[in-house]
Amino acid sequence: MSFALPNFPLFKNALDYATSHNGIAIDDIRMGKSFTYLELIQAAANLRLELLNGKSCLNQERIAILCPSGFPYVVCLLAVWAAGGIAVPLCTSHPTPEQLYTLQDSNSSILVSHPVFQDRLKDLQKNLACIIKNDDWFVSKQTKLPILFESDINASALIIYTSGTTGKPKGAVSTHAIIDAQASVLVKSWYWSQQDRIHHILPLHHIHGIVNALLSPLYIGATIEMHQKFITEQVWERWANTDLPKLTVFMSVPTVYSKLYQFYKNGDKEARNELTKACNQFRFMVSGSASLPTSLRNQWRKASGGQVLLERYGMTEIGMALSQEYVIWERVQGTVGIPLPGVQVRIISDEGNDITEKRNIPGMLQVKGSTVFKEYWQRPDATKKEFTGDGWFQTGDVAQRTGYHGYYQIMGRNSIDIIKTGGEKVSALEIERELLSCDFGIQDVAVVGIPDPEWGQKVAAVVVMDHGKEIELLTIRNQLKKQLAVYKVPSLLKVVSELPKNAMGKVTKKDLVCLF
Ligand code: AMP
Repeated sequence: MSFALPNFPLFKNALDYATSHNGIAIDDIRMGKSFTYLELIQAAANLRLELLNGKSCLNQERIAILCPSGFPYVVCLLAVWAAGGIAVPLCTSHPTPEQLYTLQDSNSSILVSHPVFQDRLKDLQKNLACIIKNDDWFVSKQTKLPILFESDINASALIIYTSGTTGKPKGAVSTHAIIDAQASVLVKSWYWSQQDRIHHILPLHHIHGIVNALLSPLYIGATIEMHQKFITEQVWERWANTDLPKLTVFMSVPTVYSKLYQFYKNGDKEARNELTKACNQFRFMVSGSASLPTSLRNQWRKASGGQVLLERYGMTEIGMALSQEYVIWERVQGTVGIPLPGVQVRIISDEGNDITEKRNIPGMLQVKGSTVFKEYWQRPDATKKEFTGDGWFQTGDVAQRTGYHGYYQIMGRNSIDIIKTGGEKVSALEIERELLSCDFGIQDVAVVGIPDPEWGQKVAAVVVMDHGKEIELLTIRNQLKKQLAVYKVPSLLKVVSELPKNAMGKVTKKDLVCLF
């Protein structure tokens, strides 16, 4: 059995980097150690041999990964791919039953893990083989250089489970070619280079954390500084520490920017100045996975001394489809820019007409191209249902184009964010944006439709208030009526201490409906 890796672009590039500049691929903060591209490909080739255990290929067996964010995770992912398996990354923060669901649904045969999850492994290990590698294994030195072998780029590579905000999670399967397309388009459009160092705090069972923030920089030979998870103080501390290498990229979700902003706001003048200065090191900062409120965008711009968050739209099934342009003055608030190169996007009206070229008329967003996933794992009916007869993936999101450039605007998920009230269709995201931009002291908000015999649905707002602030429904209504059509103004209100959110920081709206 040879010490080898498949000749997919990801591995070929990594081998090139290992034998040329051999820069740092992963800076693992938990381990307190950095690993070069050479160390990365050597460890992956080594683990591949253990996964194969004498076989020549894993023949698309599903291999689950439960590893802390850092070098062990990346080595496991690459090793599964190198061995011909399909990687199934588990969410490290999910309770055991949800991890078991993923293992069972994907019918995984091996779980590769790390001793930090020792307590979990007892429950997860049933009916599957387990390979546990500790930190010492990952730091052990190899001397050989892996060789490349021919491999099928159209083989399945990855199953990412959908966040399940509207139903039971389904496994979205992507091939190596699809992942290659998803990562390469971002490398080009966001100008990744070997000089980049990304501060990675995102979960590694999600497209954002895997493709955007890990694989894109790996494709180009950049450095990924991997932190266990997002902790507000630690992020600010890291950014302000001038003794550490300069960071150039940060990617996250609106909730994270909101927490960072709250921390900034509560600091004294000197601390705030220091934090503003710390943001200077970044080439760009990305927000996505949920709508970015305009108020937060503007607060962040001020706090960071001019960073205009680059908003992008994508989903597990399609990678990234739309992105604001890299040049700052083209990042128009409330929009997610234009289709990424090679991604075809269209908007279809309720009547089935293509209204992509129209302005300010919402319709269903559909996507086609080499970045779109292959299928839902063992759910042919669900897969068929999501594609049109001519091969367009139906995202389930409602969108419209706006302004001179026709930038796309996401109005929300048709199933939960589009509220049908008194015969009108209302975008929950639009109302959320308005509420956050009013001077009420609302810290967080979610708008949902509540079934109602007279109206079909009533517009309801669930808000989290700033410390010490209170709010009445009437106050909201009086103010919002000046800004929005009256049918969009919430007629129900609940104040809560926190909104329920999933591991990606997204509000699980179906849990809110029962509050009313
Ligand atoms: P996920 O598959 O977990 O990444 O979730 C994808 C969903 O997140 C999309 O279908 C959208 O509803 C939502 N989403 C992603 N990016 C944005 C964005 N920039 N603005 C609004 N919604 C977004």
